[in-house]
Amino acid sequence: MGTTAVILGGGYAGVMAANRLAASGRPGLDVVLVTPEPRFVERIRLHEYAAGARADATADFGSLLHPGVRRIPDRVVQIRANERTVQLADGTELGYDYLVYAVGSAAGTAPDGAVRIEHLEGAAAARSDLAVLPAGARVAVVGGGLTAVETAAETARSFGSLRVSLHSAGPVVPGLGTQTRRSVEKSLRRAGVELCSGTPVPAGGDVRAGLGADVVLWCAGFGVPDLAAASGLPVNDDGRLSLDPTLRVRGQDRIYGAGDAAVIDDPFYAYLRMCCAAAMPMGAEAAGNILRALDGKAEVRHDSGFRGLCISLGRSDGAVQFLSADDSPTRFHLHGRTAAVQKEIICRMTLRWIRGEATRSGAHTWPTGPQAGKATTAAPAPTTPPAPTAAPAPTTRS
Ligand SMILES: Cc1cc2nc3c(=O)[nH]c(=O)nc-3n(C[C@H](O)[C@H](O)[C@H](O)COP(=O)(O)OP(=O)(O)OC[C@H]3O[C@@H](n4cnc5c(N)ncnc54)[C@H](O)[C@@H]3O)c2cc1C
Repeated sequence: MGTTAVILGGGYAGVMAANRLAASGRPGLDVVLVTPEPRFVERIRLHEYAAGARADATADFGSLLHPGVRRIPDRVVQIRANERTVQLADGTELGYDYLVYAVGSAAGTAPDGAVRIEHLEGAAAARSDLAVLPAGARVAVVGGGLTAVETAAETARSFGSLRVSLHSAGPVVPGLGTQTRRSVEKSLRRAGVELCSGTPVPAGGDVRAGLGADVVLWCAGFGVPDLAAASGLPVNDDGRLSLDPTLRVRGQDRIYGAGDAAVIDDPFYAYLRMCCAAAMPMGAEAAGNILRALDGKAEVRHDSGFRGLCISLGRSDGAVQFLSADDSPTRFHLHGRTAAVQKEIICRMTLRWIRGEATRSGAHTWPTGPQAGKATTAAPAPTTPPAPTAAPAPTTRS
């Protein structure tokens, strides 16, 4: 009898998991990917798309997925773990032997009058709004994390005639090294972005009126779908599916999780943030552990870490912060055009890594994480900056 592995969510984690399973060539293994979008969404490029710096932020699933993956273009509305079935929005029930929960993030709310750019529809709405603004119109970007910074810079660089401001409750990108943070602030000012740190954003009413802006781009924190909680699966306070270190749901032997929608509920893994750089290794590792379970082998603890965080500040400016495995900044950093090129390379590599996994199961490798039991921030600094080998690891993506 065959085995069915169902992957929920065709983002970075889900596609990586589907490819690792399908390319393994296990006889009788049916790999099903349920995801609503007709094309793969390159979320890490949505700020470029919103600012009109890029014509498209999607890729053909056909060019990314192993041909053995059966894709169902729908959304799962319920997981019934006791019955090992999921229910699709069209009412269909789908049985599984193994399930990978990789439904991602971006479900956060925004106040009236604001547009969120972390999903394709929001980015497309922002793109249309920005394109018709007259010279001198005001655009307020809200948030102090990497998404906000990248969006503000990209918008200011693309639309030189608009007045762009960045509003954050605290300092921008506080998790970066001091020099990198200063350089990011300088670059934002060079791009013409007015920095309004420390000013709370008015709550209630239309936020555009409160900020005196024609368009407000809301980049203040990711939310996650409530599918896991609504299905009675264990979640943390933010609604992320709770996993053990092998990426399996505690108390469930057939459900695994990966990416933004899931979290390893072990304090050792607190360094793993919501980001593409963590999502892809988690997707691959979850699939690897399913293959081990099928072979009757012991599952492995998830092990991934960071090397570099690349920030785009327009098409020809950027910053790279080199990181320790635990996501803490080292003293090494790059700026300007070199950093922008590095970021572009990393963005292209994400699709290559996914395609590589479709060609050979196990092809994708990643930097190892901090060593359990060691003081992870006290690692000796290397004498030369290491090349960032993974997609950039945000300190926060809000
Ligand atoms: C503008 C922007 C820039 C970013 N830049 C970077 C960066 O430079 N580096 C970095 O590391 N990270 C970056 N990120 C973060 C990164 O995009 C996310 O961390 C990453 O997309 C998470 O991958 P994922 O597979 O978990 O989820 P996603 O990529 O969000 O994919 C989830 C998928 O699940 C689907 N789904 C949702 N609900 C259901 C359901 N009920 N049933 C079936 N399918 C469902 C969704 O439609 C989607 O296709 C950026 C994010 C944004 C918004």
